[in-house]
Amino acid sequence: MGARVLSLILITFFTTLALGCTQIEPPNTQPAPTPAPEQGQTAPDLSDDTTYLESFLVKRGAAVQEALNYSDVASVTVLVNKQNHLPSDYIPPDLVEPDIPFTFDEKAEKRLLRQEASSHLEELFTAAKENGFILYGVSGYRSYETQKNLFQYFVRRDGSEEKANQISARPGESEHQSGLTMDVTSKSVNFGLVKSFGETKEYAWLKDNAHLFGYIVRYPQGKEHITEYTYEPWHLRYVGQELALNLYESDMPYEEYLFFRI
Ligand SMILES: [Zn+2]
Repeated sequence: MGARVLSLILITFFTTLALGCTQIEPPNTQPAPTPAPEQGQTAPDLSDDTTYLESFLVKRGAAVQEALNYSDVASVTVLVNKQNHLPSDYIPPDLVEPDIPFTFDEKAEKRLLRQEASSHLEELFTAAKENGFILYGVSGYRSYETQKNLFQYFVRRDGSEEKANQISARPGESEHQSGLTMDVTSKSVNFGLVKSFGETKEYAWLKDNAHLFGYIVRYPQGKEHITEYTYEPWHLRYVGQELALNLYESDMPYEEYLFFRI
């Protein structure tokens, strides 16, 4: 009993001491002097908080609005990746065949692109040709069903879904289903979809000019941890000229750009 009373007294004592300590003002505490603006610089006027806040909200609102477009399947800026899927029944409404050379002869869905992406790809291929670079289309639109079969093929070949998913998208997660993507190649790599395409003069031109036609290299080298796909120099994605320019200038993959915008 006596020990309990003693411990209560001690607790009360130390608590009072501790609380007391927080109330002790350190000696000679003075507010830090406000630095004077350097000569020639104008100090920001923060007195009008309302204007500052309003302009901040307007900017933030625009970014949020842009972000909302990223989830709109009808928009050419739709974000498709391992977190953002296309519905299994989504078929682009305006698929057409671009007038470009392909690496194959048969009539197939992989020739197709959405109208806007198609006309800009034609312009891109024409500009490349004018600069002496002949490009070929390999694979464009791919339906949900086709992607499902393709993914299953890689699962069987590589032994697990995880391994297959490093190089092949699960159905609904492929940009090819959006009708906004075309895999391209050149004769210099024997018309293949191979990493060595990234070392060709055709790719060197593409890398610095595709954005002028609204296209980006979607899975660049060194950004695999962000895109969650291995480097694919051949995989071009149409996002429209404005966004393509922003992505090109910021040198960021789509996901990274979106993250920093919001
Ligand atoms: Zn592709």
